[in-house]
Amino acid sequence: MPTLYVIGTPIGNLQDLSERAKTTLASVDVVLCEDTRVTSKLLSAFDIHVPTLSYHQHSGAFKTEKIIALLEGEKNLALVTDAGTPGISDPGGRIVEELVEHFGEELTITPIPGACAAVTALSIAGVPADEFVFLGFPPHKRGRQSFFERIFLTHSTVVFYESTHRILKTLGELATRMPDRKLVVCRELTKMYETIYRGTASEVTAKLESSSIKGEFVIVVSPL
Ligand code: SAM
Repeated sequence: MPTLYVIGTPIGNLQDLSERAKTTLASVDVVLCEDTRVTSKLLSAFDIHVPTLSYHQHSGAFKTEKIIALLEGEKNLALVTDAGTPGISDPGGRIVEELVEHFGEELTITPIPGACAAVTALSIAGVPADEFVFLGFPPHKRGRQSFFERIFLTHSTVVFYESTHRILKTLGELATRMPDRKLVVCRELTKMYETIYRGTASEVTAKLESSSIKGEFVIVVSPL
């Protein structure tokens, strides 16, 4: 049985792709990726020429069967997503689940660790991270109330993701529900415009509004 390598890729800075990730990507038969355009750019930056196959949130049973057939045909596969560690709030986790369900222990699944935006944010947040709760993205509609209630009631550090389109709305909700809680909001980690904002939700909102709300965000909420 061949191997599925689950590979963490950079969250911005290409220099964060490990040597092991590069040699593994160059050695496999096919790279499974979220968006073939994004991964092709990464691969060509390192002069790696390996066929890619997309696997994303809308992929259905047909795609899973194709991936199973590749493994049954003795092809070694790598799984990457657009950025960071596959499975952490992206479609990478589902295919691993499906393959574990199908092959059980017969399939060797090897992790090649790399960047993860949540862990990167925690490393510089300056808040306790011996214990933390990761909540992914806030739901847009159903479950949004209980998402914020959960943050409010959690006694450990909370980390979650937010996009440029919703960052101000989310900070507004945090300001209303927990005006005194200290936040660390990390924008564009490892990229040119990396900025770390510290303060209450209202303080961070003022800082963001006077600089830029463009980019990708990780929000770290300090414990009660
Ligand atoms: N699997 C990825 C990981 O390991 O972090 C996360 C994928 S999730 C679809 C994308 C979200 O992660 C973004 O919307 C943003 O909230 C966060 N993110 C990814 N890269 C980031 C970066 N460079 N700076 C800040 N947040 C980032």
